Amino acid sequence: MVNILDGKRVAAEIRAELRAEVETLKAQGKRAPKLAIVLVGNNPASEVYVANKLKACAEVGIEAQAIRYPMDITEHTLLNEIAKLNNDASIDGYIVQLPLPEHINETAILSAIDYRKDVDGLTPENVGRTVQGLPSIISATPRGIRELLARYNIQTAGKHVVVIGRSNIVGKPMAILLMQRPYLSLPGMSASALGDATVTICHSKTQDLAAICRTADIIIVAAGSPKLLTAEMVKEGAVVIDVGINRVEITNNQSPITNTKRFRLVGDVDFEHVAPKASYITPVPGGVGPMTIVSLLQNTIQAYNEHSR
Ligand code: NAD
Repeated sequence: MVNILDGKRVAAEIRAELRAEVETLKAQGKRAPKLAIVLVGNNPASEVYVANKLKACAEVGIEAQAIRYPMDITEHTLLNEIAKLNNDASIDGYIVQLPLPEHINETAILSAIDYRKDVDGLTPENVGRTVQGLPSIISATPRGIRELLARYNIQTAGKHVVVIGRSNIVGKPMAILLMQRPYLSLPGMSASALGDATVTICHSKTQDLAAICRTADIIIVAAGSPKLLTAEMVKEGAVVIDVGINRVEITNNQSPITNTKRFRLVGDVDFEHVAPKASYITPVPGGVGPMTIVSLLQNTIQAYNEHSR
């Protein structure tokens, strides 16, 4: 029987824990942790993500501030603003909301972030430290997925995990976390149960993705392609984690009043047909998404605890 990995519920549980942690800090006379979010331009999807992040911070008592810049800001000016954030002692961590406009070199911007404040875990320093198994700030989505697996007591040691997608944000750091020798322990789970997986990374040039997926105990899909993972690709009892967020048009459902198209969010998994074969599966929405946001909060408190006192 399939079990839903309820990211929405687990994220709410973690937010309650974080709220208690922040309240304890304040009761000790310390200031609240502070997050800044750099937003360039007004990409509608980014606006929604930023609003959700600000709301989540408010819920746990983390101070949060969106810093907005116009679409035509130069790379040089943005780098200067990044330098100011690096030197601002009142800010524990910050993120640069992606994507950036095309005229700005994303790598140059991310590389300029002080890794101690890099609560998205995307600087070369943090990624390198993660690869070497050193304490680091871990990219939010992989951290959230690992936490979700841990809270459902799903062991990864010795399992074959297939990660579909090789992005710097999800696929690559996810694969590293799963294959590495564990050094962190999470509540309710022994350290040895996390990591230690045998990982296969697949991408758009992979030959016979279906055959590889059929050998997986755990499949993590982060491709941005609706219904990429079908039931025929999944072995009975596999754990399926759907990272994808795709906006698809609802057919035959045009609003008669506004005459506008309607959309809904779907993942990368053909949920309806895969769910009956899976032992555990994340829904979209309500699976990985809320875990990603809560990881950002955890990373901010981590940065505060490690560097700001
Ligand atoms: P990306 O576009 O940077 O990378 C996609 C990867 O998938 C690439 O490595 C590509 O090779 C691979 N891929 C694409 N089509 C494939 C196919 N047919 N077969 C095999 N591999 C294929 O994307 P990303 O930033 O990693 O995001 C992936 C998806 O996850 C997107 O839908 C994104 O919106 C979503 N996302 C969700 C969260 C969340 O919190 N839920 C966070 C980040 C990204």
